[in-house]
Amino acid sequence: MNFNCIKTVAVAIVAMVSLNSFSQDLIARQAPIDRKLKAVDSLALQKQIKAEQSKYPAYSLYPNWNNEYVHAYGNSVSIPDSFRIDLTGFCMPTPSTRITSPFGPRWRRMHNGLDVKVNIGDTIVAAFDGKVRIVKFERRGYGNYVVIRHENGIETVYGHLSKQLVNINQTVKAGEPIGLGGNTGRSTGSHLHFEIRFLGVAINPALMFDFARQDVTADSYLFVKNRSHSSSHTSLASNGAIKYYKVRKGDSLSKIAVRNGVSVNTLCKLNRITKTTILRPGQVLRCS
Ligand SMILES: [Zn+2]
Repeated sequence: MNFNCIKTVAVAIVAMVSLNSFSQDLIARQAPIDRKLKAVDSLALQKQIKAEQSKYPAYSLYPNWNNEYVHAYGNSVSIPDSFRIDLTGFCMPTPSTRITSPFGPRWRRMHNGLDVKVNIGDTIVAAFDGKVRIVKFERRGYGNYVVIRHENGIETVYGHLSKQLVNINQTVKAGEPIGLGGNTGRSTGSHLHFEIRFLGVAINPALMFDFARQDVTADSYLFVKNRSHSSSHTSLASNGAIKYYKVRKGDSLSKIAVRNGVSVNTLCKLNRITKTTILRPGQVLRCS
């Protein structure tokens, strides 16, 4: 072997060794780099999702955000077969306990809301956190009204106000004043026309809000497509819908049974409890 030849072999060996260690280094570094990239990716993704969601509440459900029309969806919306509406974090829109006209057919047309007695100037507040979609006046209908979209998927409408206290696209908190009671639009006598809509479908507010007791009927409401959302709470059972009751302080099983027209035995069976089970306030019982 001459000198040149030895040199070539030596260079080759050095090259092989260094290449080997270099590629090993590469592999060793690869994993953390990958993880880093993924972390960046999901952060960017989360940021994007957040930005989209902040455009308007219930972004994944609604196709648009429209400041003109209460019924802005029509056929452009696909209504899920069922959807659980979270009612926690609610606030009664008014402390009034008097219903002056229920939801349902009235004078040959549909009354899509619930009328609650309020006086001109009474404070009306937002039922849930949300974003104000419409602040308008309609002479032959709602009068001065406000529509709010909520993160739980529903929209609430407040009609016949004497004054609106919010602006469109304003973010509001549950309990925040949004208007004053009045008698504007198609209305005889001051009252609040309170409407609840899920993707445009009117739901009887009495199914969620019990104005007499100033409480929600349960912690959530299960919306089921093609099921009537107009019946009053008591006739729900006969429609095959499940009826729930939220336990209040001082309630007993027999009290709840009488109030909901079921037997104590049925209550026990439905809720897998016994007659001696201690009920805690806020607990939700199935009553049908
Ligand atoms: Zn009304």
